[in-house]
Amino acid sequence: MTNKVSLTQFIIEQQRGLPDASGTFSLLLNNIVTACKEISHLVNRGDLVGVLGSAESENVQGEVQKKLDIIAHDIMVNALNWTGHLAGMASEEVDDIIAIPAQYPKGKYLALFDPLDGSSNIDVNLTVGTIFSILRCREGVAPAAEDFLRKGSEQVCAGFVLYGPSTMMVLTTGHGVNGFTLDQDIGEFILTHPNIRIPEETSEFAINMSNQRFWEPPVQRYIAECLQGTEGPRGKNFNMRWIASLVAEVYRILTRGGVFLYPLDLRDLSKPGRLRLMYEANPMAFIIEQAGGACSTGRERILDIKPDGIHQRVPLVLGSKKEVERIVAYHQEG
Ligand code: MN
Ligand code: MN
Repeated sequence: MTNKVSLTQFIIEQQRGLPDASGTFSLLLNNIVTACKEISHLVNRGDLVGVLGSAESENVQGEVQKKLDIIAHDIMVNALNWTGHLAGMASEEVDDIIAIPAQYPKGKYLALFDPLDGSSNIDVNLTVGTIFSILRCREGVAPAAEDFLRKGSEQVCAGFVLYGPSTMMVLTTGHGVNGFTLDQDIGEFILTHPNIRIPEETSEFAINMSNQRFWEPPVQRYIAECLQGTEGPRGKNFNMRWIASLVAEVYRILTRGGVFLYPLDLRDLSKPGRLRLMYEANPMAFIIEQAGGACSTGRERILDIKPDGIHQRVPLVLGSKKEVERIVAYHQEG
């Protein structure tokens, strides 16, 4: 490949085209990149450096934490808290928002992240990732939790890093979606997947079938019609995929289309869905929409939800636009 474009170059050139851009944002992104390279290195080294296994603790959602959940969280916080670009942070791994230590200057952005997504897959050597979302903060305030509770449509940037066979970063700042592959030899993310677009037609769905008995009728109907294949109303056969790692599911959909559902679960209505709005659904929704797809709870566009808590859960349906629209229509028909 000639004329390699690094992520840093790409961001700086993109910022140049924007009227009110400052260098701050590209510096912030660079700090995220540094943290993700470090996480990538540890994920890749795995048991050689003793980072696999359980930490024998639980996070705020009552999930068992892996050692790498905590390590990745610490890496993100320590890479971002001193930079002067952030007014505050929020992470899947801690209940409260994370303040910028008093000795450091405060900036105009808020960062929210899932330091290690899909961490139940880490011990079986499957793909995991880091998801992040950047919001603008009101200037001059020491942010409280309410300052983070903004609609996904207000995100200025969202991305995720995939620690798979290759380490990749997928990024949007609201001008399309671009993919970068980490060149381990030079330590830079290189633009390898410019202007990612999700194919509109699909015959692939991803859902945790073991929860079928807890789904609502619209989801039952959609999946039943997929399963009927050429003999059903869809008139074609479908494939099923389930990796149980949101980053890997979203990356597959960005690459070859499909639809992913983690729907409303009637088992426990205090947990409507499984995935978290602020640092899972919102950043993925921003990316998916920017790539020409759609993202909904089944009843409401994800990016339109007014959040009521940093760790709020939502039902999630995302992927190829026509399929998501069909699932939303089934919800409207009741
Ligand atoms: Mn996650
Ligand atoms: Mn996580």
